[in-house]
Amino acid sequence: MKFRNFKTVPRMIFGRGSFDQLDEVLAEQRQTDKDFVVFAVDSVHKGKPLEGRIPALPHDMILWVDVTDEPKTTYVDALTEQVQAFADQNPVSVVGLGGGSTLDLAKAISLMLTNPGGSASYQGWDLIKNPSVHHVGIPTISGTGAEASRTTVLTGPDKKLGMNSDYTVFDQIIMDPDLVKGVPTDQWFYTGMDCYIHGIEALNGTYINEFARAFGEKSLDLCREVYLGDHPDADEKLMMASYMGGQSIAYSQVGACHALSYGLSYVMGYHHGIGNCIVMDVLDDFYPEGVREFREMMKKHNITLPKGITKGLSEDDMQKMIRVSSGLAPLWENVYGKDWQTHVTPELLRSLFNKM
Ligand code: NAD
Ligand code: ZN
Repeated sequence: MKFRNFKTVPRMIFGRGSFDQLDEVLAEQRQTDKDFVVFAVDSVHKGKPLEGRIPALPHDMILWVDVTDEPKTTYVDALTEQVQAFADQNPVSVVGLGGGSTLDLAKAISLMLTNPGGSASYQGWDLIKNPSVHHVGIPTISGTGAEASRTTVLTGPDKKLGMNSDYTVFDQIIMDPDLVKGVPTDQWFYTGMDCYIHGIEALNGTYINEFARAFGEKSLDLCREVYLGDHPDADEKLMMASYMGGQSIAYSQVGACHALSYGLSYVMGYHHGIGNCIVMDVLDDFYPEGVREFREMMKKHNITLPKGITKGLSEDDMQKMIRVSSGLAPLWENVYGKDWQTHVTPELLRSLFNKM
């Protein structure tokens, strides 16, 4: 048996107002007058007070990123070229400021600045050869765990798959619960449920162990306090739940909901958070207790999910969704064990997609 030797974020700052320490963090990286920093910032923050707080020097680069679509390999490559055209040397740091999509874009740019050939050629496990540029992750919405993970999820020409590597892991994260102010309720729910679902899938999976359970249970407890209670520190709690959920799945695996949701978003374009919610709502047979609690949370926050979304889908698209979902071997092995292939039939996946 080979055990996973996983890398975690080496430095982190947590607390309300901690964003103000970013300047100090970057000062450690700046050595000469020519050294510059790239701030990859979610466009949603343009013109908002947060923009004025970005500690950019006059020769730094602010790269506004558009997350209307989840990150594509073509977009990563285009942004990387913009950075390369900006100066005749690499930046000393790439800072991602935004949600999971922005954090993933920042990770991907920092990797592509030192690894030639385009991001699509690195979708997979441990294909990255060279260390990345120093990179910092600062979430402005909580749930994905992207701040903690060793992947950057990208939609490429023929698959939706991350660039998984030790070099992908952020060198520094700053978790400032003040920054999530202004997130719309439905988005807060969908992205937070990503975290809740990470916990349910990890704890109910065959890959579970005490390491992943310790993080997963605490993460789920925090999600329950946030979504079933009315806690004044809900923003702090969800930010920690997200980080701990990321740590939990780093040493276990996600499951049926993510496998189906990847297929759904690859073919129908649903974003990760809402896609997971649509799938979770049909998984009573997989996670009965988790689905019951998920519905209680939806009810408390008046969330209504789109229904009947796969009606009218072409047979071709249905088959593509089935192919993408059934291809996620580790996820299904986490659900069923080694003989997962005898369980995960096209008929089963079709029947689940038809319920959505
Ligand atoms: P997101 O980054 O796509 O953002 C969702 C929406 O919230 C966007 O419209 C964004 O502009 C907005 N937003 C963000 N911060 C805001 C704020 N403070 N105020 C107002 N609006 C704000 O959403 P997400 O759910 O955080 O991330 C989903 C992405 O993360 C997907 O691309 C998914 O593949 C990826 N992901 C990555 C990992 C990983 O480990 N790398 C894990 C899970 C998901
Ligand atoms: Zn997820």
